[in-house]
Amino acid sequence: TTTVEFMQAWTQGADGQGATKARELFQKVYGEDPQGVWSAPGRVNLIGEHTDYNAGLCLPIALPTRTYVAASPRTDSRVRLVSTMDPEHPVQADLDGLQARGVSGWAAYPVGVAWALQRDGFPQVQGFDLALASCVPVGSGLSSSAAMTCAVALALDDLFALGLGGDEAGRVRLIQAAITAENDMAGASTGGMDQSASMRCRSGCALRLDCRPELDAMSNVRQVPFDLEAAGLELLVVDTRAQHQLNDGQYDQRRATCEQAAHLLRVANLRQAADQVNGAADPPSALAALLEQLPDETMRRRVRHVISEIGRVDRFIEAFGRGDYVLAGRLFNASHDSLRDDYEVTCPELDEAVDAARQGGAYGARMTGGGFGGSIIALADAGKGSDLAREIAERFVSKGFKSPRALIALPSSAAARES
Ligand code: ADP
Ligand code: MG
Repeated sequence: TTTVEFMQAWTQGADGQGATKARELFQKVYGEDPQGVWSAPGRVNLIGEHTDYNAGLCLPIALPTRTYVAASPRTDSRVRLVSTMDPEHPVQADLDGLQARGVSGWAAYPVGVAWALQRDGFPQVQGFDLALASCVPVGSGLSSSAAMTCAVALALDDLFALGLGGDEAGRVRLIQAAITAENDMAGASTGGMDQSASMRCRSGCALRLDCRPELDAMSNVRQVPFDLEAAGLELLVVDTRAQHQLNDGQYDQRRATCEQAAHLLRVANLRQAADQVNGAADPPSALAALLEQLPDETMRRRVRHVISEIGRVDRFIEAFGRGDYVLAGRLFNASHDSLRDDYEVTCPELDEAVDAARQGGAYGARMTGGGFGGSIIALADAGKGSDLAREIAERFVSKGFKSPRALIALPSSAAARES
């Protein structure tokens, strides 16, 4: 029978595997000890996909897999960087006179965080030396990019005494710097869910994130208990290893279509349309009437996904909260089917993995993250996750796909200092 690779999360803490790897790389490359080590998690979104940039709702949990950053401040504007992904090739940049898109390659993410903080009113941010070590799979839809930018943001907050990491409002400013780094320095569009998850999730909880821009840091999140163990459940994450390429224009196209639709519907964003529909006496006919105002079939399907998906988030929270895992699983399924048929962001690997998990007895399964590759999640009874992972792997062998890798996820903690 097929064996499945399981991803291993490194242990946390000052002497944990993550901090040790980052510290050792720092010592090897720069010949001294770092001033500290910080870490931030990757995430999976439970439900509410492609809703963040529509001012909608989403429900991520932090993963146990994290990115660790060992760092020291400098007194000049130079930045020196090295990653365990390419330990023999440290890179350099300079913050002095830096412009948007002025750094290329992976260095754009960490350098972009410092650049964004400087522009956001923190001129005390200077250059720094940094070594990264990560057990978050890269490009798998589990948000290695936000894990990196959020760990760096928290490191810079401490190194330059910005005083932002200790409370929610401060963390929101660090999140904004992480988003700006990704959008404006790395040139990768991101709606903000990943960075909020990495900075604000709590262990044992899912984060109900309300992306309406008018909400402040106190009112845009709610911690929702998500105790899988007490529920007798497992959340299986499977990285399909299908190519995940968000910057080939598909993601931006979806965003542009949503913006056009909001404009045609005379609302600021599709969340406003979703609230009208979901709050109507008869939501299905309200949705039908709304969609009739749109000019083409593709746009109607995109909008139908966003509006129905926003509605599914609170229904999932409610179902899970009262122990109705059958309904919770059906909502996962409905989410995936909508992303496949209406939003058209799945791919054969995602659809097959989801189908195999459902056939294997999961309550429900869906793609998670931006799509076009990446990962799926499945909700299953405790102890069933590894069987499901094997069944997915067998399906992949029969289809000639790459071998997937799996992780049994528990909701973990936000970005923090490790040592
Ligand atoms: P995802 O966030 O889903 O993993 P993205 O395409 O958003 O995928 O981000 C992946 C990119 O982030 C990589 O191509 C690389 O540039 C950068 N990256 C992430 N983690 C690391 C790391 N530990 N070291 C160097 N670069 C990294
Ligand atoms: Mg990313």
